[in-house]
Amino acid sequence: MSTYDLVIIGTGPGGYVCAIRAAQLGLKTAVVEKRKAHGGTCLNVGCIPSKALLHASHLFEEAAHHFGAFGIEVGTPNLDLKKMLAFKDQAIEGNTKGVEFLLKKNKIDAHHGTGRIVAPGKVEVTAEDGATTTLEAKNIVIATGSEVTALPGIAIDEKRIVSSTGALDLEAVPEHLVLIGGGVIGLELGSVWRRLGAKVTVIEYLDRILAGIDADTAKQFQKILAKQGMSFKLSSKVTKAEATDAGVTLTVEPAAGGEATTLDADVVLVAVGRRPYTDGLGLDEVGVARDEKGRVVTDGHYATNVPGIWAIGDVIAGPMLAHKAEDEGVALAELLAGKGGHVNYGVIPNVVYTYPEVAAVGATEEDLKAQGVAYNVGKFPFTANGRAKANLMTDGFVKILADAKTDRVLGAHIVGPEAGNLIHEIAVAMEFGASSEDVARTCHAHPTLAEAVKEAALAVEKRALHM
Ligand SMILES: Cc1cc2nc3c(=O)[nH]c(=O)nc-3n(C[C@H](O)[C@H](O)[C@H](O)COP(=O)(O)OP(=O)(O)OC[C@H]3O[C@@H](n4cnc5c(N)ncnc54)[C@H](O)[C@@H]3O)c2cc1C
Repeated sequence: MSTYDLVIIGTGPGGYVCAIRAAQLGLKTAVVEKRKAHGGTCLNVGCIPSKALLHASHLFEEAAHHFGAFGIEVGTPNLDLKKMLAFKDQAIEGNTKGVEFLLKKNKIDAHHGTGRIVAPGKVEVTAEDGATTTLEAKNIVIATGSEVTALPGIAIDEKRIVSSTGALDLEAVPEHLVLIGGGVIGLELGSVWRRLGAKVTVIEYLDRILAGIDADTAKQFQKILAKQGMSFKLSSKVTKAEATDAGVTLTVEPAAGGEATTLDADVVLVAVGRRPYTDGLGLDEVGVARDEKGRVVTDGHYATNVPGIWAIGDVIAGPMLAHKAEDEGVALAELLAGKGGHVNYGVIPNVVYTYPEVAAVGATEEDLKAQGVAYNVGKFPFTANGRAKANLMTDGFVKILADAKTDRVLGAHIVGPEAGNLIHEIAVAMEFGASSEDVARTCHAHPTLAEAVKEAALAVEKRALHM
C-alpha cells in the first residue's frame, strides 16, 4: 500500500493540472484514470477533437468558397473525410501523450483503473483485468468531470442519434443533420458538418440560442449562422425520435404546447447539456453530499462535507469549462500546500469556436439589469476595422460594458474573427480592475483586430474614432 499527500481521481483538465501543481509544490501525488488516455473529456472527446475538426472544416469551406476573392483559384476541393478524422485523432493523441509526459516529468504516479473512495483517505483502484490496489492518501480529490445528458425517450445509438462523442466520428457527411439544443457544443459541431456539406437544422427549446450569453450578441450570432445556411426552430421541443435504417423521424412541438410536426433527419445530434459524473465513486457510502443536480457540494475552497475529500471541475457547480477546471485544480493544490489559491469566477472567459467566434467575459447586459447596476455600452463593428476589412472578415462586433459611475469594465462580448483571443485583453483588464478609459488609452498596434477592442472602449464615452 502506498501513501500519498494527494490522490486525484480523474485526469481531465481539472485533475491533471491539479496533480502537476501539487507536485511542483512538493506534494507526493498520484492520479487514477479509467480511460486509456489521460486528458479527460476535453482532450479525448471534447475541446481538442472539436477544435481540430472546426479548424479543418473551416479551411475546407474557405478553399471551397472564399479563396477566389483573394485571387487563389483551387477549383472545387475534395473532402477526404477519413483523413480529416485521422487528423483529428492525431490531435487527440498528441495532446494526451503530452499529458502523459507531463505526469511523468513531475514524478506523479499514474494508476490506470476505476477509482472508488472506500473510506476517507482510501481509494481502491480496479484495473481493467479486475485487479485491485488500494491507495492511501491524506487528501482525495474528486475530478471525475461530466457526461452527456440524455433526453428522456430519445435513445442515443451513436450512429443515427448521436451525442457529441458520436458527432466527432460520423462515417459520412449526413445530408440532413438535426441538432437538438442550440448551445455551444451543438453549434460548434453543427458548423463542422454544415461546412462539410450537411444541411443543418437546430431545434432549441428556448426562444434564443446560446443561453447565458449576452442576448444581443447571441441574436447577432444567430443571424450570421443563418446567413451561413443553418436553419433554426426556436421555442420548440422534440418529443419523439424514431430511428430506422434510413434515418430518424423527429416529432417536434412548440415549447409552449400545440400541434406536433415531424422532421426527417439522417443524423440527430443530442446536445442538451452535460451532467456531473460520479457513478461508482462510492460517494453515498462515504457520505459526500451532492446537490439536486448531482454536483458534489463544496465550500469556497473545494472542500466537500467529508474532511480530506475535495472536488473540482465539471463535477462541482459553475461553468463546465476546461479552463475553469484547470484553475480550480491549481487553486486547490496551492491551498493544500498551505498557499492562497483562488479563482476569480467573475472573470472566466467563455468562447464558441465557430467562424466567426463568439467570446464573452464578465457580466451580460441582462445580468447588470437584473442587479440594478447602471452601465454604459461601447460597441464597435468589425466592418469599421481596417484589418477585418482588408481580410474580408467583417461579421460581428466588440461590445464593452462599463459601470456608469466608475467606468470600471464589467463585461465584454465579442462576435467576430479571433474573438476567442481578443477577449483576453478584457479579461486581464478586468483582473486589474481597469476602466474602459484604461483600455481606450492603451496604444494598440495598427492594423490589428484588437483595435476594435480599443474602439469599443472609446465608444463607451461615445468617442470612437473610426465610426
Ligand atoms: C464536444 C465538447 C467540446 C468541448 N469544448 C470545450 C472547449 O472548447 N473549451 C472548454 O473550456 N471546454 C470545452 N468542453 C468542456 C470540457 O471538456 C470540460 O469542461 C472539461 O473537460 C472538464 O474537465 P474535468 O477535469 O472537470 O473533467 P473531465 O475532462 O470530464 O475528466 C474527468 C476524467 O475522470 C475520469 N473518471 C471519471 N470517473 C472515474 C473513476 N471513478 N475512476 C477513474 N477515473 C474516472 C474520466 O474518465 C475522465 O477522464 C467541451 C466538451 C465537449 C463534450
